[in-house]
Amino acid sequence: MNRTKDAALRERALKVIPHGMYGHQSVRILPAGFPQFFEKAEGAHVWDVDGNRYLDFMCAYGPNLLGYKDERVDAAARAQAEIGDVMTGPSPLMVELAETMVEMVDHADWAMFCKNGTDATTMAMSSARAQTGKRIVLVAKGAYHGAAPWCTPIPAGTVPEDRAHLKGYDYNDVASLEAAVAEAGDDLAAIFASPFKHDAFIDQEAPEPAYARRARELCDETGAMLIVDEVRAGFRLARGSSWTQLGVQPDLSAWGKCFANGHPISALLGSNRCREGAGSIYATGSFWLSAVPMAAAIETLRIIRESDYLEQSERLGTRLREGLDAAAKKHGFTLRQSGPVQMPQIMFADDADFSVGYAWTQEMLARGFYLHPWHNMFLCAAMTESDIEDTIAAADDAFAALAGKLDEIPPHPLMTAMAAASA
Ligand code: PMP
Repeated sequence: MNRTKDAALRERALKVIPHGMYGHQSVRILPAGFPQFFEKAEGAHVWDVDGNRYLDFMCAYGPNLLGYKDERVDAAARAQAEIGDVMTGPSPLMVELAETMVEMVDHADWAMFCKNGTDATTMAMSSARAQTGKRIVLVAKGAYHGAAPWCTPIPAGTVPEDRAHLKGYDYNDVASLEAAVAEAGDDLAAIFASPFKHDAFIDQEAPEPAYARRARELCDETGAMLIVDEVRAGFRLARGSSWTQLGVQPDLSAWGKCFANGHPISALLGSNRCREGAGSIYATGSFWLSAVPMAAAIETLRIIRESDYLEQSERLGTRLREGLDAAAKKHGFTLRQSGPVQMPQIMFADDADFSVGYAWTQEMLARGFYLHPWHNMFLCAAMTESDIEDTIAAADDAFAALAGKLDEIPPHPLMTAMAAASA
C-alpha cells in the first residue's frame, strides 16, 4: 500500500507536535503500516491520506454510530450553523436536548452538556463529592474513564495527591467491591462502573446482575452515588441506560462519543438524588454550549428512537462473529471473540504478545479492512450485509496467508513488554 503522504506528514508532525501524535489515536503501538492520517470518511468507510479506502471497524473509537456524514444528522447541523453556534449563551436547543435525554434515560431527571467524555466523567466525580461531602471514589481496576489527572491511565504529569482518594475494586467481583466499600468507611462518595467490562488488551465481560445490584445497594446503604460511564457503550446496547436491562438504575451517568453521530458533545445525566451536587459544581467550557452539536444530537437521538440501527448492528455483529470463527478454525487459528457482537473484541488464543493479532490486522488492513488487535471495535448502522460477508471473505484470505508462517511473525517489542508487565 502506498504510504507516501502519510510518511511525509509524520515527518512534518514530528517537528511541530510532540512525538508527532499523542493519545489513543496515535498509531505508535499499532502494527507497522497502520496509517496515522486520514483524508475523508463516508458511511462505513474511511480513506487515508494516500487514498486507500478501509471498511472502518473503529468508527472513530466510537463516535460513528449511524455512518460517517449521515445526511439527516448533518443537514440538521448545517441548518443550525446557518443560525448560530457558539454564542454568549445557549440556544433553545439545550432545553430540548435535555428534555429528550431525560425522556429516553430512565434514571435521568436532569442533564448537563459538555464536550468530551472526560468532561462528563469528571463532572460526575465532582458532583458526587459535592452532593455527599465525601472524598473516596471507587473505580474498577483497569477501567478507562478519561484523561484527566484523577483518572488517566498514564501517570506522567500527575501527582499522587490527584488520585489520593481513588480506590480500585475488581469488576464483577462482589466481595472485592464490598471490601473496597468497607475500607472507604464513612468517606465514600461514589462507585464508578462501565456498562460492561470493556478494557483494552483483555477479553470483555458482561456485567453480572448480582454485581450491579450490590453496587446499587451499597450506594443506598452508604449514601454514595452510583455512576455508570456510558461514554463508550451508551446507545450501542440499548436506547437508554445500559443497566436498565439488569434492573439497576444509577444516580449519575456520563455520555459522549456517539449520541450526536460524531459532532462534539457529551453529557452528564443524573437523578434528583444528585441534582443539588451537580448544580453546585463550577462546570463550564467556552465551547460546551455550542448549538450545532446539539442540533446533531437531537436528530441522532430521533433516529436512535425510530430506526432499527440497534437490531441491525446486532444481526450483522452476530454474522461477523460466526463467520470469523469459522474462517479462523478452517486455517487452524482459535479466536478469542468477546463483548457484545456490535462492539466486538477480537484477539487470538495463545497470543500473549499480540504478534498473531498484529500480523492478522496488518493482513486485513492490506485488504481494505481497518480492525484493531487489542481494543474493542464498533459496528455502525451504515455497514451492510455485503460489507460483513466481504470482511469474512478477506479474513479467510488473511488467515490463509498467515497459516504456516506463524514462526516467521516477529514479536512486537512494545507489546511483549506490556504483556509481561500485566502478567
Ligand atoms: N469513558 C470511557 C468508557 C471511554 O471509553 C472514554 C474514551 N475512550 C472516556 C471516558 C473519555 O472520553 P473522551 O476521550 O471523549 O474524553
